[in-house]
Amino acid sequence: MEKITRRDFLVMSGTTGVALSALGVNLAPATAYAAGLTKMDRVKSAKQIGSTCCYCSVGCGILGSVDNLTGKIINIEGDPEHPINEGSLCAKGAGLFGLSGANEHRLKKVLYRAPKSDHWEEKDWSWALKRIARLVKDTRDKDFITHNAKNQLVNRVETIGHLGTSNVANEEAWLISIACRAMSLVYIDHQARV
Ligand code: SF4
Repeated sequence: MEKITRRDFLVMSGTTGVALSALGVNLAPATAYAAGLTKMDRVKSAKQIGSTCCYCSVGCGILGSVDNLTGKIINIEGDPEHPINEGSLCAKGAGLFGLSGANEHRLKKVLYRAPKSDHWEEKDWSWALKRIARLVKDTRDKDFITHNAKNQLVNRVETIGHLGTSNVANEEAWLISIACRAMSLVYIDHQARV
């Protein structure tokens, strides 16, 4: 097999099929199989349940597939027959399955890497919340600005920013927003604005 550098791999990863072919992986059988599958083939061992994405007022239709044998969710995707989204989902909706408890790759515990450490330590939520609260409070107290360069009253903190996650609903995003403003943060952004 041809030797591939890390840079070669990253360049080729932009076109996954090309990268896999270069690595000697024959995609032809998988591609032919996938192309031949009908919608019924894909769901024959699962029950499909229609629902609505909970993340914004657009109300895109989704289809959840529940395995007939285990009763577990095995997939969530856009509903191609839904009049609003016709099968498409934005990043928030596309991440629905990733957020579900059925996703075995989802991180469900706190991992902490201390400053200058080269490894992660497992911590409990109580420890993590106290540490976050301590750092936020100390930083806010240290960097609170009452007046700007023009001596105008501003009462703000410029050294803490908040970036909202795509995996919260509208109501949670609103709560996060007012919590940040209550702490006088001004650098607040959220994935939902895309
Ligand atoms: S968050 Fe995205 S996928 Fe969900 S309803 Fe809104 S636009 Fe649709």
